[in-house]
Amino acid sequence: MIVGLTGGIGSGKTTVAKMFKALGVPVYNSDKEAKRLMRSSKKVKKAILQLFGDEAYLDKKLNKTYISSKVFKDPNLLEQLNGIVHPAVRKHFLSWKSRQKSPYVIQEAAIIFEIGSQNNYDRIILVTSPESTRIQRVIDRDGSTREKVLNRINNQWPDEEKIVLADFIVSNTDLEKTRNMVNDIHVQLLKISN
Ligand code: ATP
Repeated sequence: MIVGLTGGIGSGKTTVAKMFKALGVPVYNSDKEAKRLMRSSKKVKKAILQLFGDEAYLDKKLNKTYISSKVFKDPNLLEQLNGIVHPAVRKHFLSWKSRQKSPYVIQEAAIIFEIGSQNNYDRIILVTSPESTRIQRVIDRDGSTREKVLNRINNQWPDEEKIVLADFIVSNTDLEKTRNMVNDIHVQLLKISN
């Protein structure tokens, strides 16, 4: 069974993912793997170079500033970039999944509903936290600015729209309560996967 784990920036996806890992659940981090594939997959690199030109890479590293500035101005270009990266991640995820031996695996992804990929999952867990908390967490974690975090938040769906579509909600404020919710969802998922 494939379980999606999503939530807005700073909601605590990675924190929750670690709790599932501690219970022995294999977790695949889509955002991390997407970055890795953009750096190291020949096929992905070739397609990105075709789309953005040589400036897409600087010293063999993805030129994130350049790519972000391009896609920010052109939603069509963003769609084309997603059309390169998402299928590559999906393929890599499925091959990773076939090597796992547990009743269910978790695929962590910052956006699921936003890109309409909810049908790739048997169940979806959504992590939520108050917006002010999320902003402060990201400022503390990355040294980011309030403006930058708000920009990211505004590019994702609001929680209200995701809550109605998710199967499980983890409201992540108090870590001990979060852990209890994770334990409870784990028990339910084991039952479902049986
Ligand atoms: P992103 O979308 O940016 O990858 P995320 O949803 O994965 O973020 P995390 O990285 O798990 O979020 O959490 C953001 C920061 O907040 C981290 O530094 C994490 O340690 C901290 N954090 C998460 N949950 C809590 C909590 N319940 N109490 C205190 N700190 C928390």
